[in-house]
Amino acid sequence: MQLLLMGPPGAGKGTQAAELVKKFDIPHISTGDMFRAAVKEGTELGKQAKACMDSGKLVPDEVTIGIVRERLAKDDCKKGFILDGFPRTVEQADALKKILDDLGMKLTRVLNIHVPAEDLIERAVGRRICKKCGATYHVKFNPTKVESVCDNCGGDLYQRKDDNEETMKNRLSVYEASTKPLIDYYAAAGLYTQIDGRQPIEKVTDDLVRVLSSVK
Ligand code: ADP
Ligand code: AMP
Repeated sequence: MQLLLMGPPGAGKGTQAAELVKKFDIPHISTGDMFRAAVKEGTELGKQAKACMDSGKLVPDEVTIGIVRERLAKDDCKKGFILDGFPRTVEQADALKKILDDLGMKLTRVLNIHVPAEDLIERAVGRRICKKCGATYHVKFNPTKVESVCDNCGGDLYQRKDDNEETMKNRLSVYEASTKPLIDYYAAAGLYTQIDGRQPIEKVTDDLVRVLSSVK
């Protein structure tokens, strides 16, 4: 299955991707996670990405498309993948089509997790991530059993630098201007399904799995 998880920042893409990885045993490819790893390692890519990420802007298309092209060519993607946070522009979507054509693959489904704008700032500001295993929590909506300690691995939690109200406002306006047009793009391609992301996490997963069981 070649899946694309879409939705505004904070909609629950990473949270749902983690569930789909367990169910379908295919890799989760998040461009945001790839950029954060590069920033942490201090690579050239990380240096380029950092300023954009900190201000809530998009990393330039040519950089982003390059890392996705490399990642999708890896062997583990032959059995399928879950793309999260890419594409975010029409240029990236066109490039993805070309990359998949070159690899002899095509998208199975584009799943858009819909959450209204007014909920997204609270979701992002309350997001906490495990430093060790990357599990995602929320201080109010999905808290850890012991405060600030990961349920999975006991690791410490951190808050992303871009998960503050001001940067989120920028990220949401970038989403409206550059990424939202992809809804029509994938609807026109007959690949688009919208899921109600305001439901509890497990219900969103159920809806995603239900849709996927009918398109396999
Ligand atoms: P994205 O990857 O789309 O940016 P995340 O999966 O990281 O979003 O989720 C953003 C925040 O919202 C996290 O703190 C997460 O725990 C929380 N969250 C995810 N899904 C839901 C949901 N269905 N209801 C309430 N909070 C959620
Ligand atoms: P995310 O983890 O998906 O919320 O992404 C965090 C940040 O990484 C974004 O605000 C962008 O700065 C950058 N980023 C992630 N994916 C992309 C993409 N497909 N195109 C451009 N920038 C991206």
